[in-house]
Amino acid sequence: MTTDKVDLIIIGAGVVGLAVAAELSTLKPKRSIVLIDKNECFGRETSSRNSEVIHAGIYYPAGSLKARLCVEGKELLYRFCAKWDIPFKRCGKIIVANSTEEDESLTELLSTAAANGVNDLEELNRAQIKRLEPHINAGCALYSPSTGIINSHSLMARLEHNALQNGVLSAYCHLVTKIETLETNGGYRIHFKNPDGTTDAIDCEHLINCAGLHADRVAALCGIDITAAGYKQHLCKGEYFTLPQNKANLIKHLIYPPPLHELTGLGIHVTTTLDGRLRLGPNAIYLDEEDYSVNPLHSKDFYQAAKNFLPFVEEDELEPEMAGIRPKLSGPGEPFRDFIISEETSRGLPGLINLIGIESPGLTCAISIARLVKSLQFG
Ligand SMILES: Cc1cc2nc3c(=O)[nH]c(=O)nc-3n(C[C@H](O)[C@H](O)[C@H](O)COP(=O)(O)OP(=O)(O)OC[C@H]3O[C@@H](n4cnc5c(N)ncnc54)[C@H](O)[C@@H]3O)c2cc1C
Repeated sequence: MTTDKVDLIIIGAGVVGLAVAAELSTLKPKRSIVLIDKNECFGRETSSRNSEVIHAGIYYPAGSLKARLCVEGKELLYRFCAKWDIPFKRCGKIIVANSTEEDESLTELLSTAAANGVNDLEELNRAQIKRLEPHINAGCALYSPSTGIINSHSLMARLEHNALQNGVLSAYCHLVTKIETLETNGGYRIHFKNPDGTTDAIDCEHLINCAGLHADRVAALCGIDITAAGYKQHLCKGEYFTLPQNKANLIKHLIYPPPLHELTGLGIHVTTTLDGRLRLGPNAIYLDEEDYSVNPLHSKDFYQAAKNFLPFVEEDELEPEMAGIRPKLSGPGEPFRDFIISEETSRGLPGLINLIGIESPGLTCAISIARLVKSLQFG
């Protein structure tokens, strides 16, 4: 990189950093923007290790950023996909119940959804479920027509393309190692490691921290006490298993159980992929360090979780597929935590925006998050 001072640096080229880069690249007057990522290209971490579901916004507490940005974000995302030919499908989702407790959970979901402005949910009885999905087992269900699936790689490639076309510079294979606040004229000096192991620095007026699993560490590099600020993230792995191809056409919609307590995850569900595969997952396992392995022995738990509503699943046919890691603000057993998207002037760090705890539904929210970042920083 030759530039030594730019208007704006974005750390992290996952779907969120890319959406922020694309959004801010349209600012007038134009700003010089650098998008830095430690990996060799965009989307090598959480953004390419998820369910690729466009969520409807029915789970999150009313008034939360997750609820608001998801409801806004899904519509923005559907429009973006249509405009730029990103593969997606508004396939709909069925949330099934097979016990009194699960029935009650669906009733709660209906009111949470309504409070979030999602009014398209339909209640289904057993016969209606059988008509939509003859191979699943459920006493009753909720149908969400505005849930869909997306090719997240194509989405990220388009966001990157749009940002670069508007003049954003991408700097892959650059690991941000240190951040200094500049006393004289304000702003930040970002130190990074080059691909050849040498180090360099670049100054900027505005800094957007979209570092995903490392966002808390990047906030700490800016001098924030992340424990006191409530920014400390917990790593929570989600593993996936695939079902054999001959089962792939048994299901047309996404099928979910009711969500887990405290929204640790949405429960092991079945998703169809745009290339016609069926996958089960994710589970939720807290980790001390990043580890993307899938334990084949967990197929037993997946089978137990799924057999109730997916009677066609057999334990020995589940194949380990991949895992993703959620940057969660809530630790094991702790209550719901919202996204943190914070402009940090009140901490004496003007021009810095931290995005912390951007777990699900972060993919759905990428464009709405980018718009929020723009309004926080540039009105
Ligand atoms: C199992 C699982 C399932 C999910 N399913 C869904 C779903 O179906 N729908 C949905 O809407 N959301 C889902 N999500 C959430 C969604 O995937 C994330 O919210 C989203 O991908 C977060 O994107 P990001 O850009 O914030 O982070 P990332 O994709 O993690 O990107 C962060 C980037 O920052 C870079 N970086 C970090 N530190 C540094 C540094 N020091 N220097 C340089 N670069 C750095 C990394 O290299 C990385 O590329 C799921 C998540 C998981 C884990």
